[in-house]
Amino acid sequence: MKPATIFLMLSLVLKAPAAGQNLPSRWDELVASDWPLALAKSESTCILPIGILEKHGPHAAIGCDMIHVREWAARVTAKEYAVVFPDYFYGQIYEAKHQPGAFALPSRLVWDLLDATCEEIARNGLKKILIVNGHGGNPHLLRYFVQSQLERRRDYVVYLYDPPLDTAFYKKAVKMWKSDPNGDMHAGESETSTLLYLRPDLVKLDRARQESGANLNRLSLPDLYTGIWWYADFPNHYAGEGEKATKELGELLTEHSITSLLRALRVVKADRKTKQLQNEFFDRVLK
Ligand SMILES: [Zn+2]
Repeated sequence: MKPATIFLMLSLVLKAPAAGQNLPSRWDELVASDWPLALAKSESTCILPIGILEKHGPHAAIGCDMIHVREWAARVTAKEYAVVFPDYFYGQIYEAKHQPGAFALPSRLVWDLLDATCEEIARNGLKKILIVNGHGGNPHLLRYFVQSQLERRRDYVVYLYDPPLDTAFYKKAVKMWKSDPNGDMHAGESETSTLLYLRPDLVKLDRARQESGANLNRLSLPDLYTGIWWYADFPNHYAGEGEKATKELGELLTEHSITSLLRALRVVKADRKTKQLQNEFFDRVLK
């Protein structure tokens, strides 16, 4: 074999795995010349982690929800490749507007921005968009958004990662809670624990008792829903006892979430049926 041929073969062998191994998941860290490789390796799948900017008690970082889903996406895609959209902080958070740091865009803008973001992701060839939400104020918005995908024909599918409560896991995990799990909702023991596990530098645990995260129960309207319910119960935008957080609980909850998300990502990557049914549906929609 000629030395030139050996050199060519060697360089090809060295180049191929290196390109695969070093391919970043984050959209903003990819180089354009690697885009086709990213499309192929991801099976045209993009994770869209959605967080929010809102107060998390007096002690946990304002971007807590984004930090969680960003970390989940990073850890999951290290095992199963997908492109990850950069930080997306725009969702429903009007109930925290009385507190510092809340970033609450007009509702129509929130909707249009999300729709336009999905359109742009798909225009770039990523035809499966997996929304991973970290913010408790978003599910109503996101379920309606996903349902509204049937409003007009699209050449892409939006999936919402929306796992039901894993009761078997929860039954075991709940033994680790030091506070009342029913009152542990926002910046309380579990959320502070997971942030403590992921980013201990962003938790000021000694400040967690500066405010109360107790439910004030100021409004009693059985069978009725109002937008002010959360403020009525938790005007400090804090629900639970963050000071009881531990890294151990954070690790248990986070690793469980990562395993579950990894499973969902693999399902999305392998899924051909949803797009097929979506196309069939639009073919039948009366013009
Ligand atoms: Zn949160």
